[in-house]
Amino acid sequence: MTLKFWGVRGSTPTPERRNSRYGGNTACLEIRLNDGTLIILDCGSGLRALGKSLIREFGAQQITAFLFLTHFHWDHIQGIPFFLPLYRKGNRFFFHSVSTKGLELESAVEGQMASPYFPVDMSIMGSVRSFYDIGTSAITVSNAVITSTVLNHPQGSVAYRVEADGGSAVYATDTEPGSPLHDQNVRKIARGADLFIYDSQYTLEQLQNEKKGWGHSSWEEGVKIALEAGVRQFMLFHHDPDHDDANIDSLVVQARERFPNSIAAAEGMVVEIPQRTPRGAVTVGSERRQDERYAISLPMKVAWMTRAGSLREEVVQAYNVSRKGVYFVAPAEMAAEKVFYLDFTPPWDVGPAGRVSIRFQGEVVRLENVTGKEEGVAGKLGVAARIVKPLGPAARARSTRSKPRIRRKK
Ligand SMILES: [Zn+2]
Ligand SMILES: [Zn+2]
Repeated sequence: MTLKFWGVRGSTPTPERRNSRYGGNTACLEIRLNDGTLIILDCGSGLRALGKSLIREFGAQQITAFLFLTHFHWDHIQGIPFFLPLYRKGNRFFFHSVSTKGLELESAVEGQMASPYFPVDMSIMGSVRSFYDIGTSAITVSNAVITSTVLNHPQGSVAYRVEADGGSAVYATDTEPGSPLHDQNVRKIARGADLFIYDSQYTLEQLQNEKKGWGHSSWEEGVKIALEAGVRQFMLFHHDPDHDDANIDSLVVQARERFPNSIAAAEGMVVEIPQRTPRGAVTVGSERRQDERYAISLPMKVAWMTRAGSLREEVVQAYNVSRKGVYFVAPAEMAAEKVFYLDFTPPWDVGPAGRVSIRFQGEVVRLENVTGKEEGVAGKLGVAARIVKPLGPAARARSTRSKPRIRRKK
């Protein structure tokens, strides 16, 4: 999955020289799935340039796109009347939104093209347009699963999470921290995301003073969520119209002090989200950025206490290891348990005794259903776990006199 940013500014377009590096167009993201499916998040003024680019790319071929709007504030819909592919016969557009305050998608989109605001109305558009209010239930577009959650914003707004091609991106803009329900919503939808795009319009100081109640957030809050949700990369988005390039540069520098993998969205930026093995984000809490990780495919032995109170032991496949965590694929039954023991045997001889297994105590930090095509993983559980502490040599590697801690289940 690849993302391209066509508009990253918040509130109003800012076509000024001092903003030229980050760009002055308002919110618009293009997502291309590996199979070519086109998804568009928000239709701010950046949509205009995206439309021109699509016409260059597709020529006389038909364009189909799936559009998702976070809400209907101007900076998220104002590109629609200037999106040329909408006027062309044969093109098909599927608009989606989550109705939060009883606003209807079609009339909200059409309303801005009504008299006296615009010279022509939507009826002159030759394309076929469909409108869907999807609620907050997950929907599928090609191989992408798109989920949403409600944010804290005047007239409402929603965040979207796009899971596709073995990666995940979360787009959470136009939201203000301080409402426990919505604060929790953002953390939940961001959990373990590869890319976390977040409303960083204000500084914390502005947010606590003159900008309180305007429905936006800060990079400080974004970093906090990024750490709590264990995301891979944090992206500052919805830049304030009064923040020029130098301002935004300095916000990124500050954000990196607390979350090294931070960047600010810029117009024209392309972010490719690599596929993982197996499908699903590999995240081990917030520690994953501080530690070197090794992509491997290695059998490990896992033991855990079942709900019935017996110990169960299984050989699992580990795919990603760092000093502090591990990602492995386990049988679905493991879902019940949080703490487990992991016997790790390096695939080489250690010392004169040959191979040695070391036992660790681990704690599950995230579970996900694995849908990858790798053999034997379908229907199983992806487990991201934190290594709590090493427990010394594994039972098997101990001398025969020591009592094994774990017995295989009969
Ligand atoms: Zn906005
Ligand atoms: Zn807004």
